[in-house]
Amino acid sequence: MPELPEVESIKRALEPKIKGKVIRKVAILSSKNFIGDETSVVGRKITNINRFGKVLVIKLVNPLTRKPVNYLNIHFKLSGQMLYSKKVDNAIFANKIPFTKGKKMPANTTRVIISFSDGSGIFFNDLRKFGWIKVSKKPLSPKGVDVLSKNFTSKLLTDITGKTRKPIKVLLMDQDLITGIGNIYANDSLFLARIHPQRPANSLTANEIKKLHSAIISEIKKGVHDKGSSGADEAFILPDGSKGRHQRRFLVYQREGEKCPRCGHVIKRIKHNGRSSFLCQNCQVSA
Ligand SMILES: [Zn+2]
Repeated sequence: MPELPEVESIKRALEPKIKGKVIRKVAILSSKNFIGDETSVVGRKITNINRFGKVLVIKLVNPLTRKPVNYLNIHFKLSGQMLYSKKVDNAIFANKIPFTKGKKMPANTTRVIISFSDGSGIFFNDLRKFGWIKVSKKPLSPKGVDVLSKNFTSKLLTDITGKTRKPIKVLLMDQDLITGIGNIYANDSLFLARIHPQRPANSLTANEIKKLHSAIISEIKKGVHDKGSSGADEAFILPDGSKGRHQRRFLVYQREGEKCPRCGHVIKRIKHNGRSSFLCQNCQVSA
């Protein structure tokens, strides 16, 4: 699932391509993936693209009055992809697009096509169909604090962790508390901070919280710098169809059976709360 660095990378790549463009047409190939009235965005101009947690938010104005009209909010969920082409009617990419049969768009997984007045356009692909594009009057911003915002402080992490015995990893991935962290960055941040993923949140010491806070920021920033992670089982690609690079720098995530980069012990995979956790049982003690 795309996490903060992946959605941020899509945003940064997409912004210079679509900012200032006018929507000519919205073709909905799967009604499950589009919520709202698509005709209300036709003829509107894109003035801004933002990211709130894992949600991409495109601001639309009336091109004549320049007044904000509405927003397109995009959540990639498990397998969403967003591709941009200069020629929406004849889109061919340099690489084979994961989960599709080739390099051409639209593909078998394309759910929504947004065409612009200059002939370019974007394709929203989603194999699993859990992702969505929603039209709204106000931007959909999640409840949780964004990891890259000023409000994500060590004190906030202290407040959140102090209130519950839930496993720390589960807490880090709760988007209503902190938004942007998924399984990749939760595993690697906990490894970096030497904390076992199943530790009760309120058992963390002040020093561990401090280390975890800087580990999260550092891992997320590395992910953004690497233009996201295209791991073994991931659908993530950038809008030009290319892959991110962060999978090359995973610390423990998807490295089951390999040696711990810190101590050389074998990295283990455990299942809890329905998700895989990767850890070094020598470096990350359970308390
Ligand atoms: Zn180790």
